[in-house]
Amino acid sequence: MFMFYFSFLQAHLEREGVALEAILCTHKHWDHSGGNKALKRKYKSCRVYGSAYDDIPELTHALADREQLSVGRLQFQAFFTPGHTVGHMIYVLDGKSGDGPDCLFSGDLLFLAGCGRMFEGSAETMLASLDTAASLNDNTLLWPGHEYAADNLKFAAEVEPENNVRDRKYQWVLHRRLEKNSTCPSTIGEEKEYNPFLRTHCKDLHRALGLEQGQNEEWNHFRARVLEEVRKRKDLFKER
Ligand SMILES: [Zn+2]
Repeated sequence: MFMFYFSFLQAHLEREGVALEAILCTHKHWDHSGGNKALKRKYKSCRVYGSAYDDIPELTHALADREQLSVGRLQFQAFFTPGHTVGHMIYVLDGKSGDGPDCLFSGDLLFLAGCGRMFEGSAETMLASLDTAASLNDNTLLWPGHEYAADNLKFAAEVEPENNVRDRKYQWVLHRRLEKNSTCPSTIGEEKEYNPFLRTHCKDLHRALGLEQGQNEEWNHFRARVLEEVRKRKDLFKER
């Protein structure tokens, strides 16, 4: 899969006759950073952005939370979103800088109707990172790292059976996939309506999971418990 992306990217750069100026790396996993070395070898002045907390190959520019960066006239803001890995980052393109919409490049933090596995962080950490994504403008386009929409929406129906917005999106996604089309982008506003990992505050979800907030339990502690339960069920669902 990685080789396909790499040669696709290479062919695109050559067709356009442009040099690669920057890589905005979300995290260290091979399917998100495995091309850095070869690309850096070919494009020597290419900057590689990311978090110093992740072991990102060829990292040249370590970013702090909410740091701004620009590539040509495009302006981005990086957000520190640990949980999937200790140094996961997401990037938001300021639409105004490119005469287009705001765009979130979410790596393995957030997928259409899903979220990444919590390999290197607690549910509390992941919740705070997901809250960062959810706090973006509703019109922000979501460009995730993987095409998992059909599977994710099927699972979402198990934990929140009554959700018409999700049902409609699922039908649309099935149609798109049948025609071998991508289901991305969605928007942050849409995701908040059907993505169970962004709905840890929803009573319907609590009911379906059989969870209740403890009498003296802090709200965010409870939401982290809900997130943990949804994640656990999703992992089991995948193995079925
Ligand atoms: Zn990953």
